Amino acid sequence: MPSAPQRPETAAASAVGGPADVLAYLEANRERVLAELLEWLRIPSVSTDPQRASDVARAAAFVSDALGRAGLEAQVHATAGHPVVTAASPPIAGAPTVVIYGHYDVQPAEPLEAWATPPFEPVVVDGRIVGRGASDDKGQLYAHVKAVEALRDLDGGLPLNVRFVVEGEEEIGSPNLPRFLREHRTDLQADVALVSDGAMVAPETPTITYGLRGLVYLTVRVRTAGRDLHSGAYGGGVPNPLTALASMLAGLKDASGRVAVAGFYDDVAELDEVERERLARVPFDRHAFMADAGVTATPGEAGYGLLERLWARPTLDLHGLGGGFVGAGSKTVIPAEGVAKLSCRLVAHQDPRRIADLLETHLRRAAPEGVDVDVVVDGLGEPALTPLDHPAVAATARALEAVWGRPPVFARTGGSIPIVVDLQRALGAVPVLLDMGLEDDRLHAPNEKFEVRNYLQGIVASAVTLRTLATALGAR
Ligand SMILES: [Zn+2]
Repeated sequence: MPSAPQRPETAAASAVGGPADVLAYLEANRERVLAELLEWLRIPSVSTDPQRASDVARAAAFVSDALGRAGLEAQVHATAGHPVVTAASPPIAGAPTVVIYGHYDVQPAEPLEAWATPPFEPVVVDGRIVGRGASDDKGQLYAHVKAVEALRDLDGGLPLNVRFVVEGEEEIGSPNLPRFLREHRTDLQADVALVSDGAMVAPETPTITYGLRGLVYLTVRVRTAGRDLHSGAYGGGVPNPLTALASMLAGLKDASGRVAVAGFYDDVAELDEVERERLARVPFDRHAFMADAGVTATPGEAGYGLLERLWARPTLDLHGLGGGFVGAGSKTVIPAEGVAKLSCRLVAHQDPRRIADLLETHLRRAAPEGVDVDVVVDGLGEPALTPLDHPAVAATARALEAVWGRPPVFARTGGSIPIVVDLQRALGAVPVLLDMGLEDDRLHAPNEKFEVRNYLQGIVASAVTLRTLATALGAR
């Protein structure tokens, strides 16, 4: 049997209009909201598998129906790939608008033999919903759907305008969503974008993620000769692309671990005092981090703590180096070319395009005579940062405190979620990442799970957040 959500006993609970009534509602409807999610999880909506296209379409229809039953006007939109499902609540003139984003597609389930139960025959065992998509992202998105339904039943309607955007291509890089958002920007414009597609920093620790890193990814090729050359005949008289590349790459960082590219840090937003104080409250264990990574040291930019380096500082890493001969035995060759792959994780307010240009300029200047440099930009992604002083953040924090009985921690993530930037750009919405999953939910891996407790608390958190957002933003 799933455990009941905890009844918080904080004074804040009553101050924000809940969550007692939502908890009572869920107690009466628990089996139903669980059964509905399991039914959705049964649909193998693997977006990358062409054989599953009809299942993907079925999963879109399922969530469209569920949104309709929750009192919204839902629509399935065809795209060049898998459909996008949108929904809108009955309009309330003058009220703020929240857009809730999620995805109904899932990762492939392979290797199937590693699953304790079949991935698309979801079960509830020991308080966990086990099945592909349970946490990423069907469970987290469905919590919002059920929250909207609960508010409809409890309050006779929603306190503000709610839109849903549910895509079926997140796991394959959202190739069609940015364009879809731009084309539907008038209908989907919102003050706040609620995104639940991540993990709380620790169990029982409500989390608002407010910063995501951006990315620039480069391939660097150096060429020194028309062909490989014999080191006996040419060694001592020709440039070597591998030594050239090694020195160019080594020069990208200085001895203190800082990126030595001119202008690299120009636009970096340093943490302010409030953020620093909040960062200090995040439960983070350096030794557990080291054990998990299997490393014996945590080097990085001097002058910054480990968590700050992981979340709020830009990085530069090499991903691959190639060239010449690395087979068994020896071959006395001076190769004609060498190649490296590298990337930088970026933070607000670095512009990935500008950083790519700075890197390229630096590498070209560092190239010794006779070395041709070719730089290809393989990927650019913008960082995102939610202003912590935005009223939507305070409102969400109040709601989470009321639901969990403790204030949320404010986290950043070192990773990149490009779609958050698209929601911000195309819809003008301030992103608020309300994470419901746990770090050990085994996303993309066998035996993916979502704790029943997190699902139910997620429904309560979403419902109470919508109420507090209506008050906080309505009064602006
Ligand atoms: Zn996801």
